[in-house]
Amino acid sequence: MSTEATETAKILVVEDEAAILLGVKDNLEIEGYTVLTASDGQTGLKLAEEEDPDLIVLDIMLPKLSGYDVLRKLREKRIRGSVIMLTAKKEERDKVQGLQLGADDYITKPFSLVEFLARVKAVLRRTPGGADQLKRAKFGDVDLDFVSYEATKGGAKLDLTPREFKILKLFIENRGRVISRNELLDKVWGYDVFPTTRTVDNHIVKLRKQIEDDPSNPTRIVSIRGVGYKFALSAEEIDETRGGS
Ligand code: CA
Repeated sequence: MSTEATETAKILVVEDEAAILLGVKDNLEIEGYTVLTASDGQTGLKLAEEEDPDLIVLDIMLPKLSGYDVLRKLREKRIRGSVIMLTAKKEERDKVQGLQLGADDYITKPFSLVEFLARVKAVLRRTPGGADQLKRAKFGDVDLDFVSYEATKGGAKLDLTPREFKILKLFIENRGRVISRNELLDKVWGYDVFPTTRTVDNHIVKLRKQIEDDPSNPTRIVSIRGVGYKFALSAEEIDETRGGS
């Protein structure tokens, strides 16, 4: 996504505390973003469906529908906007649950607006939407659709989470380059990292089971000892479809 596109991104803020909602809205608007607001989960979900925002700032404790429920429903409906979760709780399990559901980042209240805006920018930088987005990739008998989040191998449907699609996209876009576990954590999980490098390894094992012909002898996602992983196929071996969203 270009810098211009990032600055005009559409952001939906779902928060029931009026003071926070207003503060966040004002500051995002000053930065040039288009801002939509909702003060309960149900309205937030409806706006997200209707307006397809680039980013959703989502409080967890909300009337009508919790932030978790909203996030779960968004992912079920395959709404692709990035999500930053807000919570007053400082409990790690909130963060784990939010990230497992596919949130891109997590901010604990109270937060400074400077920190908040930095997080928003960081997440939008990683948000799909530019003109050169990878929309589909085929290699061997694997077919990955990054728009509909559907994937098949040999015609059989693969069971991949949005996060796993994100990892595959990162690999394919950086094919031939070694990606460290820390870079994967940073780009896929966000820099406020709770998961460990062990989490990365577990995801790689699961991905190999799905996209490798012989998962115990991988030829696509290969390990580079002591460094990280690399997507080993060449440009000629991958049939890509690209375009804007
Ligand atoms: Ca709240």
